Amino acid sequence: IINTDELSHHEKLPVPDNPKEVQDLTREFNHLLKILNETVLRDRQFVSDASHELRTPLAGIRGHINLLRRRGEEHPEIIPESLKFIDEESLRMQHLVENLLALSRMNNAELEFKEFNLTDSVTEIYEMYQNQLSQNLELKAESGIMLTANQDSVRQILISLLSNAKKYSPHDSVVTIRLYKDIDNIMLEVDDQGSGISDDDKKLIFNRFFRSDDSRSQKIEGTGLGLAITQRLVELNNGKISVFDNQPRGTKFIVTFRKN
Ligand code: ADP
Repeated sequence: IINTDELSHHEKLPVPDNPKEVQDLTREFNHLLKILNETVLRDRQFVSDASHELRTPLAGIRGHINLLRRRGEEHPEIIPESLKFIDEESLRMQHLVENLLALSRMNNAELEFKEFNLTDSVTEIYEMYQNQLSQNLELKAESGIMLTANQDSVRQILISLLSNAKKYSPHDSVVTIRLYKDIDNIMLEVDDQGSGISDDDKKLIFNRFFRSDDSRSQKIEGTGLGLAITQRLVELNNGKISVFDNQPRGTKFIVTFRKN
């Protein structure tokens, strides 16, 4: 049904008669269409990746439930092993779902910013994590570095990087937190002496669900969402995160915040 009121309203809209203006508008429209398309495709890819990641442990769990149904009574010796598998895989699914929720909440997050003493926050986390890492944790921090950002999420960023250093480097190696500044920026760095990351993988590690072949094959616990979440948190605090080789071995993550 054509609403004639609306039609006449549209007719009154100013129509640009200048070809340059029309060209500009067309260009802008095409640009918006392109962004919209990319967003839709990205979301579709995300849903498909997430489904795939959830489907794998789910298939395993169902497989073991079937096995227990068919064989459990006759061969009770398989029960503990199957239960262990089901327990671990369902825990993995739980982590995955929690991380997915965290990521989706962040999409429309508005974080509260305030000025705080970053050196104090980092020192607190260092003291908390000293006993939680099997590596030797070191802190090299300039004193009294102030930052205006969201304190909770900055703490979360450091904790995520530490938990990766813990997972991907050997016991008794050294993990170092560094905090320093130059004229424009504040740098928060986590260095480890672990397996390191190949140059090819360095381009992929911030993608959602990316895990190196080694992490997957060595069954190191994880969802591939940790660094995607960390990068998002860094961006929400107007920062940047980069990854480098540590010398002589291992990985160095540097988070850079602009000075207030
Ligand atoms: P997860 O640890 O759950 O797999 P992340 O998003 O935190 O997911 O990391 C993605 C991948 O990046 C990991 O699977 C691992 O291959 C690699 N990675 C991350 N941090 C390190 C590190 N400190 N040392 C070596 N590899 C790392």
